Amino acid sequence: MPTAVKDYYQILGISRDASQDDIKKAYRKLARKYHPDLNPGDKTAEEKFKEINEAYAVLGDPQKRAEYDRAGTTFEQFAGFEGFKGFDFGETFDFGDIFGDFFGNMGGTRFGAEPHYAKGEDILMGIELTLEEAFTGVTRPISITRAVNCDTCSGTGAESSQTCPACRGTGKIQISKGFFKIAQTCAECRGTGRKITSLCKKCGGRGKTVYTEAVKVKIPAGVDNGSIVKLRGMGNAGVGGGPAGDMLLEITIRPHPVFKRKGDDISVQLPVTFGEAALGAKIEVPTIDGTAVMKLPPGTQGGQRFKLAGKGFVSPKSKHRGDEYVDIKIAVPTNIPENANEAIKAIESLYKENPRKGMSR
Ligand SMILES: [Zn+2]
Ligand SMILES: [Zn+2]
Repeated sequence: MPTAVKDYYQILGISRDASQDDIKKAYRKLARKYHPDLNPGDKTAEEKFKEINEAYAVLGDPQKRAEYDRAGTTFEQFAGFEGFKGFDFGETFDFGDIFGDFFGNMGGTRFGAEPHYAKGEDILMGIELTLEEAFTGVTRPISITRAVNCDTCSGTGAESSQTCPACRGTGKIQISKGFFKIAQTCAECRGTGRKITSLCKKCGGRGKTVYTEAVKVKIPAGVDNGSIVKLRGMGNAGVGGGPAGDMLLEITIRPHPVFKRKGDDISVQLPVTFGEAALGAKIEVPTIDGTAVMKLPPGTQGGQRFKLAGKGFVSPKSKHRGDEYVDIKIAVPTNIPENANEAIKAIESLYKENPRKGMSR
């Protein structure tokens, strides 16, 4: 099925003698205008966007443009070109600088199965903190090992390359199926349009090298178990000029011998003597950032809970500071000397309250 060959010059709104620079400018302007992320749900814009990219994939490459010009309007090689599939982002232009962030999220697979442009993978790393470090925030030296683009070949993996002879640089092969002509991704170059003639010696053709770097990371105050601190761009290198992934630091907080944390609140068990509970007392209570003095009222019971307002964690979101809950525990001495036994019995005989009143059956 012969597909009508499009006038790529008309699509980009330029004359046939436009310079490569003019082509690039015209493309950028139109691509921004019709980008699907800026025109959500607009099918016409999406079609237009694909068409613009198709046109630029050809006219943006001087070699492909020359072929297109020679073939005029009967050049079938370019019929059935599907948007981004099969054009070499790495060499044609730096895609990242046009679309910046919103392309990163798409993983580059939206316009085809082969991610010739994709954000790099994120790396997840665990960081263990004490509760005190989580409270104040902390700067931690860590060592990050990640894949970076090989600086010798700029991530292409090639020491030298040529236009793929199988697809003549289009990344597509036309095959006939009955009456139909179908465009398939070129297997020789995996759709890149370039064929590597010799591999980069530094990276062995992988395009990436492993790089370990010592960095200091700032963990903000208030993080909790399971919090993720993101270091943007510190993950593995992207594909085809795509942005690097992120380094994700997953926070684990070591159990604390004194404090328990729940959200922005802290709880602590406070042992007091019978005398302090019965008569009331001023008691120093440990807090996450010091001590507080608490006034225990006379007749305090074991298990009773008191609140120290504003002695908890500061929420990193709302900046509101949580509270500290003090749970009273009556500490009963275990090694009571003989002479104290009589004194305790004497004290108990002085009051008549039955602690188990109402429980008899
Ligand atoms: Zn290399
Ligand atoms: Zn090819």
